[in-house]
Amino acid sequence: MAYRICLIEGDGIGHEVIPAARKVLEATGLPLEFVEAEAGWETFERRGTSVPEETVEKILSCHATLFGAATSPTRKVPGFFGAIRYLRRRLDLYANVRPAKSRPIPGSRPGVDLVIVRENTEGLYVEQERRYLDVAIADAVISKKASERIGRAALRIAEGRPRKTLHIAHKANVLPLTQGLFLDTVKEVAKDFPLVNVQDIIVDNCAMQLVMRPERFDVIVTTNLLGDILSDLTAGLVGGLGLAPSANVGDATAVFEPVHGSAPDIAGKGIANPTAAILSAAMMLDYLGEKEAARKVEQAVDLVLEKGPRTPDLGGNATTEAFTQKVVEALKAL
Ligand code: NAD
Ligand code: MN
Repeated sequence: MAYRICLIEGDGIGHEVIPAARKVLEATGLPLEFVEAEAGWETFERRGTSVPEETVEKILSCHATLFGAATSPTRKVPGFFGAIRYLRRRLDLYANVRPAKSRPIPGSRPGVDLVIVRENTEGLYVEQERRYLDVAIADAVISKKASERIGRAALRIAEGRPRKTLHIAHKANVLPLTQGLFLDTVKEVAKDFPLVNVQDIIVDNCAMQLVMRPERFDVIVTTNLLGDILSDLTAGLVGGLGLAPSANVGDATAVFEPVHGSAPDIAGKGIANPTAAILSAAMMLDYLGEKEAARKVEQAVDLVLEKGPRTPDLGGNATTEAFTQKVVEALKAL
């Protein structure tokens, strides 16, 4: 039986990095069937909605989904909603898993092997904003239920790793009701995971420690906006957004996507780094149970990152296609 994979390019460099990841997936030799779907700003402009209902149906008909990136305007556009944020809530993809690992390139810090587990359905990302004359208010929602399940997801990940360490990053000192509920709830569920060493850390200190001594972190669990920011920081530690993969995991399905956005500044030039999308595809293979194929894809990427050619974001001059071709060759030789 073939795995059914939903592919959503989205906007901007999504049109470049998703076809690249598809080529690498095809080179694994696994039985894969691809289903293409659309979402994002271009879809909104064409069809008046950023996520057509048939896209949701296609995702649910597949074993997993690989998503590129979607553009969100910074101004308010009537009727528009962010495609990936909508999918996270609609499909209840409550755990956003964002690994950061040292890579064999000059810009990467050595000794980093950590995972940020970001709550993905609430916090400030409920997108409830109001404006009264010159004052604007945004709601941040924290529930015990969502804190409990993200806590469990992070604890399970920590339990499966050699160092078995979890940091709960929070701002409960300033927001004792919302951030405090998150912190207390994760600490409570941690009692069910006696093998995991659990510590709490205030998020701003966590940001500083991540820059100074990233190697001391294993798994970090945090709320939505804080996780969004910390995971760009950790991406920066190991070579930048072009290298950072992620998974949005729920109980019913999972959507894998690079941490980066649609990169309008380089879109259409054929120079986007497809590594983040390819590593997201590797995370997807791991989720599907194809651990060996996942490991080989990651190994092939590291081999090409080490030897080159590299894309311009890493100081090289390779195109997206040339880099991808090298990864495909390296994978087939493994
Ligand atoms: P971005 O990630 O698109 O780009 C940030 C910088 O990193 C840019 O200079 C870009 O050229 C570079 N970059 C990103 N990915 C790269 C890659 N694969 N290879 C080489 N360079 C890469 O973030 P932004 O500029 O803040 O946002 C642009 C748009 O993307 C916005 O509309 C934003 O809303 C959207 N966005 C979407 C997602 C998502 O779909 N999950 C995530 C972040 C931003
Ligand atoms: Mn982000």
